[in-house]
Amino acid sequence: MKKASVFPEYRGNMEYYCLGCGKRFGIDELLYTCPECGGVFMLDNLDFKKLSERTGKEWRELFDTRAASKNTALRGIFRFYELMAPVLEEEDIVYLGEGNTPIIEANDHLAEKAGLRFAFKNDGQNPSASFKDRGMACAFSYLKALVRKHGWDEVLTVCASTGDTSAAAALYASYIGSPLKSVVLLPHGKVTPQQLSQPLGSGATVLEIPGVFDDCMKVVENLAENYRVALLNSKNSWRILGQESYAFEVAQWCDWDLKGKCVFVPVGNAGNITAVMGGFLKLHRLGIISELPRVFGVQSHHADPVYQYYSVEDPAKRVYKPVTVTPSVAQAAMIGNPVSFPRVKHFAEQFEAIGGKGSFQVLQVTEQSIMDSMIEANMNGHIACTQGGECYAGLKRAKELGLIAEDEFAILDATAHALKFSGFQDMYFSNSFPPQFGVQPDTALANAPELVIEESAKAELAPEAFTEAAAKTIADKLGLQSK
Ligand SMILES: *Cc1c(COP(=O)(O)O)cnc(C)c1O
Ligand SMILES: [Zn+2]
Repeated sequence: MKKASVFPEYRGNMEYYCLGCGKRFGIDELLYTCPECGGVFMLDNLDFKKLSERTGKEWRELFDTRAASKNTALRGIFRFYELMAPVLEEEDIVYLGEGNTPIIEANDHLAEKAGLRFAFKNDGQNPSASFKDRGMACAFSYLKALVRKHGWDEVLTVCASTGDTSAAAALYASYIGSPLKSVVLLPHGKVTPQQLSQPLGSGATVLEIPGVFDDCMKVVENLAENYRVALLNSKNSWRILGQESYAFEVAQWCDWDLKGKCVFVPVGNAGNITAVMGGFLKLHRLGIISELPRVFGVQSHHADPVYQYYSVEDPAKRVYKPVTVTPSVAQAAMIGNPVSFPRVKHFAEQFEAIGGKGSFQVLQVTEQSIMDSMIEANMNGHIACTQGGECYAGLKRAKELGLIAEDEFAILDATAHALKFSGFQDMYFSNSFPPQFGVQPDTALANAPELVIEESAKAELAPEAFTEAAAKTIADKLGLQSK
């Protein structure tokens, strides 16, 4: 007997929509930026209205039911299929365990320090240990669909990266295999050893460029203009769609009630904050949520073009200017000219039109507070990366500025796993930050392993005597009472 498919029947009618000139293009071709004006795209579902045939309540129930699905294609971010890329077939969808990341509330001690209750959403618990997997799952599913339709025999995927984009791209490409091949461009010496090991381990071709991310980005764009390659940077609007799942999951976790909730997101290339705002707006349009949360973008003072733009009170006087970045511990967000800035503007206006003034804001935090905050969070049971620390620093800053009240609840995006950025923790504990970072660690927090017994001392002892001597040393050190 053939099993009835649980895969959705609804199909959308999607088009690329240029935020620069407003022109529209079909999705049969992989378009990266607007061929007319070079602007960034959004993906627009012309049949989105049809989704209103279901009530908000019916959608909530459907998504809650799917959260228990055993259908591989619907297990991860695609349980929100209709809201993201409802042009894909079940066979196209790649699932590597992305999405469904936990939201972990801060303990009483930490909540007291912050002055309000809050939680981290651990997006480092995605397969390549960052939120980038959400967007890649969608972009690669679309690529798979294109390969199937066109019968292509070779597709070269390329991306520039501050580390995590390449880790995710290489992972998904290696899973799908032929005809996909992955090439990643990294700023030499500007990604962590863990992030470098990831694309290498996935078998991608790893190329390095002297400079920072913004330099890599220019090279990649030149490649895309002149050669046949599939670009996977966050200008790629399929990635934005996948990253919207973060917002859907936050809403679902909060039982679809976002009143009094504040969402903090680190801003680098600004793809993530675009997707988070876009996702909440979709839920609101369909009546799946009745109130938008407030969204706070957070940037380091070493890479803060979006903060600079919004720091001007009068919208008519705001001017966007790229900045030159200086070394930042929030290295994955160390970007001076964010490609998704036009998207942020687009959604910020819509957000404020519904949520009012204060529903979208950007905060600036110091390198010092980013590091202090990450260390403090992780010493209280979290697994935040430096960008997660940046969000926590942003929360404290918002509290300090009186932008958030005690009775609100904040959800901070821990965008990657702490382990990817453990080098910065090492610098903190060993007080060895290069001066450009301007970070003075709290030496009271320094933590280092202690060797209990020297190798040479071990060599001189019989095995039993060694065990005894080591145990005795430990007991003395810890002041243990004998039984
Ligand atoms: C990419 C990345 C960011 C920045 O996200 P954008 O979409 O570029 O703004 C933040 N944190 C981590 C861990 C990342 O990998
Ligand atoms: Zn255009």
